[in-house]
Amino acid sequence: MLFLLLPAQLPRPVLPSASALDTFDLSDHTVVLSVDDGYHSVYENIYPLLKRYQMTITLALITGCITEGKPSYRPSDRFLNEREIREMMDTCGIEIASHTLTHAWLTHLDTASAWREISDSKRRLESLFGTEVITFVYPYGDMNGRVREMVRRAGYKLARAVRGGTPNLWVERYAIPEVELRIETRLPEVIHYIRRHETTVILLHRIVHSPKVFTEWPVSDFAALLDWMHARRVRVVTLSELYREWWRERLNRALLQSTADSNPTRLFEDVDIDATRTPHSR
Ligand SMILES: [Zn+2]
Repeated sequence: MLFLLLPAQLPRPVLPSASALDTFDLSDHTVVLSVDDGYHSVYENIYPLLKRYQMTITLALITGCITEGKPSYRPSDRFLNEREIREMMDTCGIEIASHTLTHAWLTHLDTASAWREISDSKRRLESLFGTEVITFVYPYGDMNGRVREMVRRAGYKLARAVRGGTPNLWVERYAIPEVELRIETRLPEVIHYIRRHETTVILLHRIVHSPKVFTEWPVSDFAALLDWMHARRVRVVTLSELYREWWRERLNRALLQSTADSNPTRLFEDVDIDATRTPHSR
């Protein structure tokens, strides 16, 4: 017998109410907090919240500013020192990334100078903190094909850009896009974005009590964002963890492929052993 459903008989879709929507478990969502430049306000205003929620960040450091203890653009602020960075690494498993030696416009430099900025900063960070540095962050997001190739040759596994979008490591590892927290960014917009995307890389510079310049965001909103993510079990990882997860998936796919091909000798030719080890536990 054929049943015809007239419009009035169609089952109505059940839409969750706004408050029910807000309680959804988001443990299959991933967020990276990518903090640029290494201002002391990271230690003051971000670090306590990371400890409270057991979260972590990828911190892009201007190598020359750590070792020389430079003041920042605000007389009341300065850059992080070595001790503060080490403490955050030990306590919260933060990842340190290179943001060059001097925060240079890389496409404006000749090849030798750009190479120094990219490669020497990696070596300096590694000897200073005794850990491998695999992530690079382009100052001002300034890069082109030549710069990306230098970053790859210097031994970085991934690099974050300054451009809007969602990351896809299968497509582009050396220009990872982000969502930036700027003075005009509203908290509900950020929450909405995280909800709608499986992986979100958030770029931030300075979290302060009274934002004044475009790269600053309020402590109160940042605390509310972390509280919201914590309550909904959003995973917060570093960029290097994102890379390692991608590598494991790549390895799994290669395994499946090689089983299908019955040619296991090809399997380990291109394996990045570092990517397969267990990341720092928090
Ligand atoms: Zn920067």
